[in-house]
Amino acid sequence: MIMAELRLAGRPASPGFAEGAVVRIVEQKSTRIPTGDSQREAHDLKQAIKDALKSISSLADRAEGEAAEMLGFQVAMLDDDTLAEAAFESITHGEAADQAWRKALDAEIETYRAADDEYFRARSADLEDIRDTVLDHLSGSHAAFTVPPGAIIAARDLAPSRFLSVDWSKGGAILLAEGSPTSHVAMLARARRVPMIVGLGEIPECASSIIIVDGALGQAVVSPHDDTRASFLARQSADQELAVKAAAVETQPAVTKDGMSIAVMINIAGVDDLARLDPKICDGIGLVRTEFLFGEGPLLPDEETQYKAYRRMLEWAEARPVTIRTLDAGGDKPIAGLTLDGESNPFLGVRGVRLSLQRLDVFRVQIRALLRAAPHGTLKVMVPMITAPFELDAVRALFVEEYDTLRAKNIAAKMPLLGMMVEVPAAALTVSTFDADFFSIGSNDLVQYTTAAGRDIGAVASLADLRHPAVLKLIELVASYGHSSGRDVSLCGDAGGDSDLIPFLLRAGIRSVSAAPSLVGRAKLAIANFSFEKTEGA
Ligand code: PEP
Ligand code: MG
Repeated sequence: MIMAELRLAGRPASPGFAEGAVVRIVEQKSTRIPTGDSQREAHDLKQAIKDALKSISSLADRAEGEAAEMLGFQVAMLDDDTLAEAAFESITHGEAADQAWRKALDAEIETYRAADDEYFRARSADLEDIRDTVLDHLSGSHAAFTVPPGAIIAARDLAPSRFLSVDWSKGGAILLAEGSPTSHVAMLARARRVPMIVGLGEIPECASSIIIVDGALGQAVVSPHDDTRASFLARQSADQELAVKAAAVETQPAVTKDGMSIAVMINIAGVDDLARLDPKICDGIGLVRTEFLFGEGPLLPDEETQYKAYRRMLEWAEARPVTIRTLDAGGDKPIAGLTLDGESNPFLGVRGVRLSLQRLDVFRVQIRALLRAAPHGTLKVMVPMITAPFELDAVRALFVEEYDTLRAKNIAAKMPLLGMMVEVPAAALTVSTFDADFFSIGSNDLVQYTTAAGRDIGAVASLADLRHPAVLKLIELVASYGHSSGRDVSLCGDAGGDSDLIPFLLRAGIRSVSAAPSLVGRAKLAIANFSFEKTEGA
């Protein structure tokens, strides 16, 4: 009898292909026996926290970039006495150490999970990670987590530290019943090229089965039929061929079949993204999402911290243009102590420049850091979520004011070009009314605001399509105004790195795109395979 194949569909969190046996990770219940002595319980918890700190710190020491940052965050959380306060309080009332710790952390995790915002929900995994690491130390079961290399992990969610303890060099993948594409573990998976699917719902018992995983499609098939497997293998080998070709053109200029040069820049979230990256792969940095610099620690970064980060980006680029976007907090990127809580629709609320103009105390610090970094390279500054000309005028006035103050104090500074993101349809439709030195189209938001389909809502994903004629018309309008007025127009939304969408962008008049560094090679290939002549009238 042929076993029926079982198809599972979730949200793509990290692209890539994998095939193998499933290893199910089931959350362990603690086996610790309470001592019945409050002082002893408190002592054991203190010791477990200390041991957990040690093990996370040693993982952090060996980690790099994003992983080091995330583990550093966990160390800081665990090092902060307030996290365990409620647990120690319960212990004085007779609770066992593990129960007290679990209850205290679960309450904290629940607040994160219940948040309206996906970003906060995603952070709950870090707290779960901390909770479980301490529990493991309390029950003495630490280091019991072993997964054979190449395994396909199926779990409810996966803690970043567990991800880091697995050897991914032999392949493998992650299937999560819950989870989120914006979680830390998803970022780590993308960075290590481990395929990952989230939101699969109940993953059926299939421990002994072979499963195939297509991370980009968000699909996994248990016990695949021969034809399903054959089409999977064909997609996988086409993807491998593409990866080889993409790597070969990465540092080459991007030119269409009919000889049109297209600028390809990179999007980054911080200086760490530039580690081991050759500046020759790009024509500059097209987008620095500075809000990630603001969300890193418990305090907002001061002028010096920001200045150093911006300066390093400019120096890395070796005179290529570096487009740093001013803070775009709010929407799906809340920052504690800065963005507003409880907005009914944060994507339509006080986000981006709207927030910066309300929080001049924070904005002026960023402006000064940018003005001081500007002499170290070719800086362009762009402002997110601009809707009406007065907003950009207000930002320009602040730049002039801060520049004059710095110069009056003899502090080295330079006025950068000041441009705007075009991501609000109202701004695209009235593009000629803005006093902008350049424009960068934020297609992620432009698509969601034009189609009224949230960028983070899977159920309306088919509507949130850049190929909608209304979106393409807006892009055409901005590109054509840029051309006629002699101002640069680039596009820095995810579409800029999407091989399927690049032809649509080129036909709409876009001649400069900015994409995640890992997509640059593929974007250049898509450009090289494109011909204006062949697609005329298409
Ligand atoms: C965009 O909206 O396309 C964009 C680049 O900005 P973000 O994705 O950071 O909102
Ligand atoms: Mg945006």
